[in-house]
Parts: sequence; C-alpha cells; structure tokens
Amino acid sequence: MKLIITGPPGAGKSTQAKRLANLLGATSVSTGDIFRAHVRSRTSLGIGVERYIDTGTFVPDELTNKLIHNRLSQKSAARGFLLDGYPRNIAQTTFLDSILAEREYELDVVLLLSADNDVLVSRMLTRAAQSRRSDDTKAIIDHRLKLYQQQAEEVIKIYSSQGLLTRVNGVGSIDEVTERILQSVRQGANVSPVLR
Ligand code: ADP
Repeated sequence: MKLIITGPPGAGKSTQAKRLANLLGATSVSTGDIFRAHVRSRTSLGIGVERYIDTGTFVPDELTNKLIHNRLSQKSAARGFLLDGYPRNIAQTTFLDSILAEREYELDVVLLLSADNDVLVSRMLTRAAQSRRSDDTKAIIDHRLKLYQQQAEEVIKIYSSQGLLTRVNGVGSIDEVTERILQSVRQGANVSPVLR
C-alpha cells in the first residue's frame, strides 16, 4: 500500500507510522526522523538542516524533495510506503505528484490524524521531558503548530478533493488509534484481501 499520514505535530504520526508500516508491509519514510538521524551523525545534510529543526522551521523544499525523491526511487518503495511528515505544503505536494506519476505509483489513502491543540501541546511537553527533542520547547511547539495550521489546510484540501483523505481521531491509547486507522484503511479502495 502507498499511504501518507499527516496531522499536526504531536498527533502521534511517527508512532502510528512505525506500527502501520510493520502491519501493512510498507516502508515508513519519516522526514523528521531521517533529518534528526542526519543531525546526530553530523552528515553534511544534518549540519545543513540542524538550524531549521532546532527552530521548528521548514527545511527548504529543495532538500526535502530531494530526500523523498531518493527514498521513493529505491526498489523497496514499489512494495509500499508510508510517508510521515511529507508533503507539508503545496510545493511538496506538487513535487510528490510528479514522482508518483514518473513511477506510475498511486496513493491508496491519506490519513489525517487529529487531536485538539491542548492535547497536542501537552503531549509534546511530556515528550520533551523524556526524549530531549531540541524542538519540543513551549515557544517552538507553538511555532510548529502555527506553521502546520498555515500550510496543512491547502494540502488537506487537495487530497480531500481527490477523495483520498480519511480523518482519524488521534486521541486514545496507541493501540486504539492504530485499530481506528486500520479500520479506515480497510474501508478504503485498493486494499488487498489479506487486510480485510
Ligand atoms: P513534527 O511534525 O512533530 O513537528 P517531525 O519530526 O515530523 O515533527 O519534523 C521535525 C522537523 O523536521 C520540522 O519542524 C522541520 O524542521 C523538519 N521537517 C520534517 N518534515 C519536513 C518537511 N516535509 N518539509 C520541511 N521540513 C520538514
């Protein structure tokens, strides 16, 4: 299957993306995780993107698009992929469309994981205490949420008009949310019989 998981920061995309990738036999491609791994290993990409991650600002599209192009050009992508954190704006959405067309890939579903703002902020602050993510401070969290609200609406509109969007309530236990997602995925088109 070929999926996108989107939603505000703190909605639990990454957690769910990893579980779903396993369950659906798809490769999970999380732009945030990949960037953070590069920052940790001090690669030239990591050094280049660090200031954006630390301030909760978008990494320039040129770099993000190139990363996605590389990942989706790998053979494993043909079996299925789950994009987490991409696309986040119109330019990325257009770029992704061109890659999909080039490879003759079709998206099965775009999952929109949602939660109220107060839930999101409290989850990220809890995470900050545990994982020390450089961008989980109150001011940067507010900035990331604002940026999401500004940019995501248009992306969501596009996928909604293509009939690909499925909204899933992200509030509940991790297992509950996974089960909700699986249910909505099963209801979508193009699902292999194994999953039904
Ligand atoms: P969250 O969505 O919870 O803020 P992510 O782990 O998805 O966290 O992203 C962390 C940071 O990585 C973002 O604030 C941004 O700097 C960078 N990033 C991730 N995905 C993208 C993207 N598609 N475009 C630009 N920057 C991105």
